[in-house]
Amino acid sequence: MKLNNPNNSLKMKALYFDKKLEFRKEYPIPVPTENEALIRVTLAGICNTDKEIMNGYVPFTGILGHEFVGIVTECSQSELIGKRVVGEINIGCGVCSLCINEMQNHCPQRQALGIHGKDGVFAEYVTLPIENMLIVPDEISDEEAVFAEPLAAAFNILQNVEISKQDKVVIIGDGKLGQLIARAVSTTSCDLTMIGKHEKKIELAQHFCKTMILNESAKLENYFDVVIECTGNESALHYASLIVRAKGTIVLKSTYAGNIKSNPSFWVRKEIRLIGSRCGPFAPALQFMQGNKIDLTKLIDKIFFIDEWKNAFEAAFLKGALKVLLRF
Ligand SMILES: [Zn+2]
Ligand SMILES: [Zn+2]
Repeated sequence: MKLNNPNNSLKMKALYFDKKLEFRKEYPIPVPTENEALIRVTLAGICNTDKEIMNGYVPFTGILGHEFVGIVTECSQSELIGKRVVGEINIGCGVCSLCINEMQNHCPQRQALGIHGKDGVFAEYVTLPIENMLIVPDEISDEEAVFAEPLAAAFNILQNVEISKQDKVVIIGDGKLGQLIARAVSTTSCDLTMIGKHEKKIELAQHFCKTMILNESAKLENYFDVVIECTGNESALHYASLIVRAKGTIVLKSTYAGNIKSNPSFWVRKEIRLIGSRCGPFAPALQFMQGNKIDLTKLIDKIFFIDEWKNAFEAAFLKGALKVLLRF
């Protein structure tokens, strides 16, 4: 289908952020460039990054949202029209040394879908470079495919840290991200534990790792080879420093809303490696979803239609909420 929309004259529903989030019923449908596709969004996920943008931690004006699955409706490569796709969110300049070496995620000129310089997916349509798109295999439902971006971020840990079967690895945090990390890291067959605070949520990981309710007095000091911190709380980072062994690794998977006051001497004395980890490639995440029945839908709290966006954001930002989705 060609929308034939040369002057942006066709309109769509969109959630536009400019200091506050607004529902626009008459936002112009974007026009794809030669290298882009126009995608009709089917489902979109609300993520903590959206919350951070709405709280002003990351400056952004435009359509919010970066987790999605949709159908290509317009594209210069006609064989892609009608295909169900997900998309990598970072758009590099394509010419700097980082982009040439396939590190677009770190290109200083990059745009990021719904985060920086590029309208996002909380809208009926979005444009994305063709090279950012991945076709979703038929075995993966929309409700699973919408997890491609956060699951890819979880798999990024395995690109940044070598984890072997013998390693004792712990995930601190039983929320959305912790759950996806448990699924990704369990593919290494390492000795994996999740430490969390919520009985109900930690149960969701039982199939993939050992689980423990947080107990600061448990004899875990200097126990783990790798500690993955995904709560974004300073106290959890302190706990991570305690339970990691000397010469071990702490992976920082969350952004922190404020400055932290931890004393780095701890890391110096134990000669800890601190590793930051952010976005990851989608292909391993899609392969994993295709090959394993991991039932990501258990991680969905609720799906709202776009017109109910206020209720959706309220539900998504409730303490302890799992994934909330928007349907278009
Ligand atoms: Zn996200
Ligand atoms: Zn670049």
